[in-house]
Amino acid sequence: MNRQKEISELQRRQEDKMINYPYNYDSHSFGMLSNHVNNYGASTMEMHKEFKVGRYGYVKLLDWMGDDHAVVAAARVSYERGNRQVKDDEQLIDYLLSHEHTTPFEMVETKWEVKLPIFVARQWIRHRTASVNELSARYSVMDDEFGFPEELRFQDDKNKQGSTEELSYDKSEHLLDLFQDSADEAYRLYEVAMGQGVGREQARTVLPVAIMTKWVWKIDLKNLFHFLNLRTDSHAQKEIRDYADIMSRIVEERVPLCFAAFVENWRDAKKIRASDVKKLNAFMSQDAIASNEFEGFLWRLING
Ligand SMILES: Cc1cc2nc3c(=O)[nH]c(=O)nc-3n(C[C@H](O)[C@H](O)[C@H](O)COP(=O)(O)OP(=O)(O)OC[C@H]3O[C@@H](n4cnc5c(N)ncnc54)[C@H](O)[C@@H]3O)c2cc1C
Repeated sequence: MNRQKEISELQRRQEDKMINYPYNYDSHSFGMLSNHVNNYGASTMEMHKEFKVGRYGYVKLLDWMGDDHAVVAAARVSYERGNRQVKDDEQLIDYLLSHEHTTPFEMVETKWEVKLPIFVARQWIRHRTASVNELSARYSVMDDEFGFPEELRFQDDKNKQGSTEELSYDKSEHLLDLFQDSADEAYRLYEVAMGQGVGREQARTVLPVAIMTKWVWKIDLKNLFHFLNLRTDSHAQKEIRDYADIMSRIVEERVPLCFAAFVENWRDAKKIRASDVKKLNAFMSQDAIASNEFEGFLWRLING
């Protein structure tokens, strides 16, 4: 794609986002492409903007080092004197990810500020390859801000970790009001304890896991892709997915070629089990690829 075409394509995708984007952007929409474009036409307007998640949460891009070209430049060191002819950057980036040659993606560094409920932070912090600095509830008094879900969902009977469809609006609102009352009561006790001289590090133990925390989170692009892959997946809890979805949009803006390769070779790709490869070969050798059995097999492979 030539550069003008790339810009038009990005512009089209941005317009789609403006219409379809599910989050409350307040005044912080992605800007239309203007003079803020990098080499690949990506917008730089999203830096330092708070993209809201829920009532109190947000994610903000603080800093970003490197672009698609940084990945390409690092990779070309590998191939400097070789015979391999990789035609252009897009192909090279796709080649790298499809062959799990991932270190060039570590040349891009990203830094975020995130405000999130502690129950989301518990899941997020499991990603060990990031550098984190979190607000200290030993040092600071916590604000009375509780990041309850926006709607309550039924327990999933099959996936014991998950939830399914939403409760009725009235039921959900009623229960969420009770959640809020309980959190307010806990916060009142927190203040009473501190009022009686109890240290913040102990008084906080009465607070619920919906209370908001905040951190600065730095991670390279390769490991960010791993995070986005796991946390935008439908198996991830919606309350963390909401953050990961916004971050995906920002990453796509910043490194469109890398992001496209990530989607193609990683996020939306399927691994095939060795036993399924055997079955696939058996179907082909029996010339049974038009059978219903084969169709069912393929459906299971693709839809999991
Ligand atoms: C849907 C879902 C459900 C989950 N359920 C549970 C659960 O019930 N209980 C639970 O405890 N966790 C659960 N987790 C967390 C999960 O097990 C991982 O801890 C989390 O997703 C981080 O993944 P990671 O370790 O691959 O990533 P990161 O920590 O980001 O690491 C990235 C990669 O770096 C490498 N790496 C990092 N640190 C090490 C190390 N010390 N040794 C070797 N290699 C390393 C690995 O290759 C790793 O894949 C769940 C995660 C998801 C997405």
